[in-house]
Amino acid sequence: MIKYKGKTSGLLKAFKISIGLILLGIVAFLGFEFIPGFFKSGTGSPSSSKDVVDLSPDQYQIKSVNLLGLDKIIETSHFSIYFHSGNEDEARQLITICENDYPSLSKFFESTPKTEVLLTYDADEYVNVFNAAPPWAGADRYKDPKTSAGSFCPSCTKSLKNETEYIYMLRPGMKSFAHEISHRYYWSNYKNLRFNNDLTWLNEGLAVYVQNEIAKGPGGLSSTSLPNIKKFTLPESFSELNQLQQTGSTDMFYDLVGLMAYYISDRSSDPGLKKFIDDLNQTKDLDKTSQKILNMNSNQLFTGWKENVEKVAAGNPKDFLTSFRSQTQK
Ligand SMILES: [Zn+2]
Repeated sequence: MIKYKGKTSGLLKAFKISIGLILLGIVAFLGFEFIPGFFKSGTGSPSSSKDVVDLSPDQYQIKSVNLLGLDKIIETSHFSIYFHSGNEDEARQLITICENDYPSLSKFFESTPKTEVLLTYDADEYVNVFNAAPPWAGADRYKDPKTSAGSFCPSCTKSLKNETEYIYMLRPGMKSFAHEISHRYYWSNYKNLRFNNDLTWLNEGLAVYVQNEIAKGPGGLSSTSLPNIKKFTLPESFSELNQLQQTGSTDMFYDLVGLMAYYISDRSSDPGLKKFIDDLNQTKDLDKTSQKILNMNSNQLFTGWKENVEKVAAGNPKDFLTSFRSQTQK
């Protein structure tokens, strides 16, 4: 079980109601983001049978450190977790989750630079010190002037002295970790794609795919919005698909882009999704890459995905993803 001690509710409400929309624009560019189902998870405790973590409390050494008021560190060669004294159990749990997921993550992404995770249970600290907004369970930022908080987040008053690669976690959770680490590797590995907001659907779709398919933890596709796809007006283009993220249909957005990731994976030879993104990073041309990897242009990709989503939705399947994949796999 993961305990959640954050005093977040009032602050979260305030953010959501008053400046949530403004923040959306800013944070979308910075890479902060909403995790579907984050608020619905109540205590934050995982609930799936896949949640079992082989927690080995003594396996990792805790050392003292000082980074933005975080005074402890626990690390492996792949991850460093900075946290407060008092959250030792949670930090151990998180590093165990990270390491449990790492073999499959590294197999998929191939290039997996070391990642530092800043962990807090305090929403005020998350906002004020880590420069992250609480509707987002995690955020990543990179050592690049184009994405520095000072340039693009005027409301952020403090910044890290040494901005390397971090993930900010409001609380540990397999759901947010697997999702955020996907963004971390995407941004690190695909430098030609990471500033392209037209590809938000791909970056987020990959993260949902990773949550759902590759990481050992739960998360990914939502069990609440998938059954409602039938009643939902599907977007007409990739651009409209991207817009769903910021129009209050966030859970649906993540499910739809996740299905797009599966569609790309299923319509190409294994490992199709990775191959598709690798190629797109080279060509920077969605049509060219779609043609080469999927033997269809980008319009056909969108239309094919949409038609399959509609067809599966019409059948009201119990397991949407299984039905979708049985239909889309070659
Ligand atoms: Zn995301």
